[in-house]
Amino acid sequence: MPPTLHSGDPEPLARVAFVLIGTSHPGNVGAAARAMRTMGVTDLRLVAPRFDDVAERPEARAFASGATGVLDGVRRFATLAEAIGDAALAVAVSAEPREFGPEPAPPEACAADAMAVLAADPAHRVAFVFGAERTGLSVDEVQACGRLVSIPASPSYSSLNLAQAVQVLAYCVRRAALTAAEPATPGPVRSGPRLADHRAVGRLLEHGEQALGAIGFLDPSHPKKLVPRLRRLMLRARLRPEEVDLLRGVLKLMVERSRPR
Ligand code: SAH
Repeated sequence: MPPTLHSGDPEPLARVAFVLIGTSHPGNVGAAARAMRTMGVTDLRLVAPRFDDVAERPEARAFASGATGVLDGVRRFATLAEAIGDAALAVAVSAEPREFGPEPAPPEACAADAMAVLAADPAHRVAFVFGAERTGLSVDEVQACGRLVSIPASPSYSSLNLAQAVQVLAYCVRRAALTAAEPATPGPVRSGPRLADHRAVGRLLEHGEQALGAIGFLDPSHPKKLVPRLRRLMLRARLRPEEVDLLRGVLKLMVERSRPR
C-alpha cells in the first residue's frame, strides 16, 4: 500500500469537545461538524442555539455532508457552565482578548497544552468554546475559560468564518494528538495529577464569593473586579480535587466564624 498521511484517530481526541454558543446559521453548524469529523473529533455541543432544531435542519445536514453522525450526536445545553462542566480545561476561541480573561496563545501551543491535560489523566476532558457569528464570545464567556486561543490573522480583517475557525483548531488538535501518540503509547496512561473539573471550580468560586461577603472583604453592592480576578486566578492554578476541598474547608470556617455569636 502506498504511504499515507491519514493515520488513525488517537484516543485523546474522543475526550475533546467543541462547544458552539448561540450559533445562528444551520450551515455553519453542519460545516463545523464536517470540520471536526475530518480531524477525528466528534463531540459537538451547542449552547442556546438560535433554533433548537438547528442540527436537524436540511442546510446543516447538507453542509455536514458525510459527517451527519456528528450532528446526530449533538448535545444541547442551556448555559456555557453546563456545557463545560465536565472539562478539566476549557479553552475560549476568540480573535480578541477580554478584560480579566486569560492571555491569548496561538492554536499550536494551546493544542499541545490540551493534549498534555488529556494525557495527565484518562478521565480528563477538554472543551474548545466558540462564539456566535455576529457577536463572538462575551467577556463573561471568555472569563469562564482557563485559556484563550487566537488564530493569528491579518490585523485588518482577523475574523474567520465560524466553521473555518473550528477547522483550524480541530487540525491543530489532531496534529498535537498525533505528535503525542508517536512513541506508540498503549492507550491512555496517567502521566500527571488529576485536575478538578469546571463544575467543581465553579462551585468553589460561588462559595468564595459567599465567604468573602460574610467577612466583609467583598461588598456585593460594589463587587468591583474581585470575582473575575479570582476566577482567572483559580482557573490558571489548575486546581486538583483535594485542593478544591481544602479551600472549601477554609471558606466554610470563614462563613461559620463570621456569624454573630
Ligand atoms: N463578529 C465576531 C466574530 C465572530 S466569528 C466578533 O467580533 O467576535 C465566530 C467565532 O469564530 C468567534 O467567536 C471565534 O470563536 C471564532 N473565530 C473567528 N476568527 C477567529 C480568530 N482569528 N481567532 C480565534 N477565533 C476566531
